[in-house]
Amino acid sequence: MSGLRLDVVTLAPEAFAPLRSLGVIGRAFAAGIADLHTHNPRDFALDRYRKVDDEPYGGGAGMVLKPEPVFAAVESIPVLPRRRVLLMSPQGRPLQQADLQRWATDHDQLVLLCGHYEGFDERIRSLADEEVSIGDFVLTGGELPAMVLINGVVRLLPGTVGTAASLEQESHSTLLLEHPHYTRPASFRGQEVPAVLRSGDHGAIARWRFEQQQQRTAERRPDLHARWREQEQP
Ligand code: SAM
Repeated sequence: MSGLRLDVVTLAPEAFAPLRSLGVIGRAFAAGIADLHTHNPRDFALDRYRKVDDEPYGGGAGMVLKPEPVFAAVESIPVLPRRRVLLMSPQGRPLQQADLQRWATDHDQLVLLCGHYEGFDERIRSLADEEVSIGDFVLTGGELPAMVLINGVVRLLPGTVGTAASLEQESHSTLLLEHPHYTRPASFRGQEVPAVLRSGDHGAIARWRFEQQQQRTAERRPDLHARWREQEQP
């Protein structure tokens, strides 16, 4: 098996079933482009109640994921030469397209650690190379963030998405957002496809698309547009 190996440490392994079976990502798993394994800390709990959480030292609301079952789960996973361990956390660095690109390119194994409850025992952080947040909001567990990350990485692997060009031109692969797309019909409920796209003039189409990219980015993401201008005219 030479695809990217994904190991997810999670209390809810069943949440990952749709990833394996649905759409483009499901087909990538079926084709062996990536390989998904789940590991449940509960299977590594030492007591007969299979307890994976406990009260926080010092008191306070909520329960905390215990270190022993998570360490044991991680230590049970085979280690490939170019492995990266990623901890899902709202306190992590916000996920960027460049991170997905880096993990898809530089690594043969990603281990994703999903938190639960009020969070995890602080010592669990020492298992991770990076902490990743999918945005400034809080979810109940790390499963959806891990699935977001897996979807984003696997679609970048060669063979998952039809053409490499469609990945190169899309939003967030450069600082500019992607241009608008249209398909048939040329006129729909009073909204017309811009004439240039039907002109057959490839130079004019390329110029129009590039202008649209700049305009869209300036309107929707002035922060990205400013960075793009800086890059263009240092
Ligand atoms: N009390 C924690 C805090 O304030 O940082 C939040 C814990 S959250 C309820 C439970 C788990 O969900 C986290 O440990 C993390 O694994 C995951 N999680 C929640 N929101 C996330 C986000 N925005 N990005 C990545 N993971 C998140």
